[in-house]
Amino acid sequence: MELYYEDPYLKSFTSKVNSVSYSNSHALIVLEKTAFFPGGGGQSHDTGIIVGKKGSAKVVETRMEKNIVVHLCSLNGVIEQGEGVQCRIDWDRRYELMRAHTAQHMFFQCLSRFFKDLYVVKDNIDVGRHALFIRSPEQIDFARLAEAEKLANQVIKEGRRVIVRWMKKEEAAKGDFRIKLDRIKGNEVRVVEIEGFDKSACSGVHVLSTNEIGLLAVTRITKEGNEHTLEFEFGDKARDFLLDMKKIGMSASSILQTYPELLERTADKLKQENLTLSEQLKELNEALLSKLEPTQKGGIKIYSKIFSGMDAKKLMDKAGELIKEENVLVILGNKGEKGFLLIAKNQKMNVDLNSIAEKAFRVMEGKGGGKEYFMSGAGKAEKLEEAVGLVINEIGDLHD
Ligand SMILES: [Zn+2]
Repeated sequence: MELYYEDPYLKSFTSKVNSVSYSNSHALIVLEKTAFFPGGGGQSHDTGIIVGKKGSAKVVETRMEKNIVVHLCSLNGVIEQGEGVQCRIDWDRRYELMRAHTAQHMFFQCLSRFFKDLYVVKDNIDVGRHALFIRSPEQIDFARLAEAEKLANQVIKEGRRVIVRWMKKEEAAKGDFRIKLDRIKGNEVRVVEIEGFDKSACSGVHVLSTNEIGLLAVTRITKEGNEHTLEFEFGDKARDFLLDMKKIGMSASSILQTYPELLERTADKLKQENLTLSEQLKELNEALLSKLEPTQKGGIKIYSKIFSGMDAKKLMDKAGELIKEENVLVILGNKGEKGFLLIAKNQKMNVDLNSIAEKAFRVMEGKGGGKEYFMSGAGKAEKLEEAVGLVINEIGDLHD
């Protein structure tokens, strides 16, 4: 008997043991009736404890096997077939899953009111992670998402009843609600309705009223193609998340010397400015690179310059071109998050570039590699000047 459907709030119950079998280190217990939910509709299973006269069994997983609820347990002592047992489900876990599941149904409906042609791929209702996987032909933008969240919190506040009904499969097939008919075994369909708001075929365990959810907030959205994963929190965790976001918003606006309500506009403006500046820097860099002039040291032409915001590939191409000329040494650097340095020479030159480069990369606290006439690597950006200076000195020492 499925007590979890009869009374979803039943935390403890007595039952009779129908059978006990063993699989690896676990005992598999079947009870005459149970409130342990075996999982379903994306909702994770229950855990808890079964206590007998001569032992107890910690229920680590509950699953449905051939229409029978099996409790996978770690046994302490003995539980015997036929004996009466006291059972208790882990209520904190179950109640989180129930609230999350109702929240998920309700929130999908809210989203459907703002985004066209949404489709639930699956949902994942587990402890600590509540996620909704949806397919949407449209981009899930933050403005409409916020509207959907507002509606969800309104529906929570209204305390709408959650009603569960069983209906015949052929009747359900005619209904205008979410149902994946191919997944339904048997002739009966369990339908969960959030009164006057949402209806869906579902085998999960739900709360009785939407106000038990407390508060709902989407905490993360990830996207792959047109499939979106929306993770959400509710109750105290949603409140903590929102307070954290508020702190981040206020702190970021203080850094950018603006008001929180202008943060998006400021961020957008900065992004545009940054793009323009990057373009200008790129042009400037290219002009500088094309006008690179050498200095002479002991009969060697040295091309040396440190750039910032320059593409390393461009520096390498340029160096490759310059070293075609005899007696040429090239030392080019770029300052970014890290410092990039390349040292190259004409292949005929009798200079041990390897040992010089090694010293330079050591100065930068980084490492490099390459061919004996063309070495490059990365290290600390603030040590670039020192490293370039060292290379020039070493070359000087060789030829003075
Ligand atoms: Zn469901």
